[in-house]
Amino acid sequence: MTRMRAVVKEGNSVRVRRVPVPDPAPGEVLVRVEVAGVCRTDIYVAQGRIPSADPLILGHEFSGTVTRTGTGVSRFAAGDRVAVMPVLPCTTCARCAQGTPECCAHHRFLGVARHGAFAEFVAVPAEVVRPLPDGLSFREGAYAEPVCASLAVLKTGIRTDDLGMVYGANRIADLTARVLDSAGFRHVAAARTAPLAVDAYDFIVETQPVSSAFEEMIRAVRPGGRIVLKSRPAAPVSIDLTAALRKEVIFESAAYGTFQASLEFLVRHDVSDLLGDTHALEDFERVFAADGAGERLKTFLAPGAGLQSRRTTASRVEAGAYPSRP
Ligand SMILES: [Zn+2]
Ligand SMILES: [Zn+2]
Repeated sequence: MTRMRAVVKEGNSVRVRRVPVPDPAPGEVLVRVEVAGVCRTDIYVAQGRIPSADPLILGHEFSGTVTRTGTGVSRFAAGDRVAVMPVLPCTTCARCAQGTPECCAHHRFLGVARHGAFAEFVAVPAEVVRPLPDGLSFREGAYAEPVCASLAVLKTGIRTDDLGMVYGANRIADLTARVLDSAGFRHVAAARTAPLAVDAYDFIVETQPVSSAFEEMIRAVRPGGRIVLKSRPAAPVSIDLTAALRKEVIFESAAYGTFQASLEFLVRHDVSDLLGDTHALEDFERVFAADGAGERLKTFLAPGAGLQSRRTTASRVEAGAYPSRP
């Protein structure tokens, strides 16, 4: 059986293991992962703070090359460069029927509910796979999911002439400020400058899900103004609802724009200043630690970069029950 290297979480242990290369099921494609971005969600899953399948291959932001297709797949062929949306929609709910599968509330998430992309190969349903536009690098392709998450703010009730604020000093804040600028917003403070003026902003985009941040945002938004929720904290956050109600603050959450729009955004905008280094799969622990400490640039793992070590460790094939598909 052909094997591959993958970052596998099993119980409390997360390490690079040699596991079977998955077979694409009917309707799926097998993608050789070129690069995969590291995200806070991956770290929460690794820490056990987000419930997940077990054992599980981590990773959900990636791009790669199609190597095989399952039966019934005609849109892709071996050699195609692709980007993949990690939200696997249920395909039957109202959101899916409306053509917004990215926002299916009943989705399964790659790298959480089933094997993800910190591996040399991953099998994914063809409907979440998109051709990577010619001008885009694999790193840019792997960045499409964060862009898709930031584009979601444009679905909310905010308007280009509003006085806005992106609250938080982090990657999501930087990217969201870029998205707003591109959409024609001209009055958005791009970084946190605490303490904020009181009753000052028509909207505030939240990127820092802690109680103290909500206190400050509720103070800073104007009465009747809007707080757009963008974070995915691993645990509930307490909010002073009385303070919010007194000002009739509108809370609006927005998960994703469309994946296609995020690829088109990347074609039109140079985001290279937001992208950091690429590391071998075997360096995942160090990369996770830096990311958890607040790394400002998106960092990537390149599963193919350790081919040398694959050869030298090929004799240490691990035995044991390893389901190819949780
Ligand atoms: Zn992510
Ligand atoms: Zn659905």
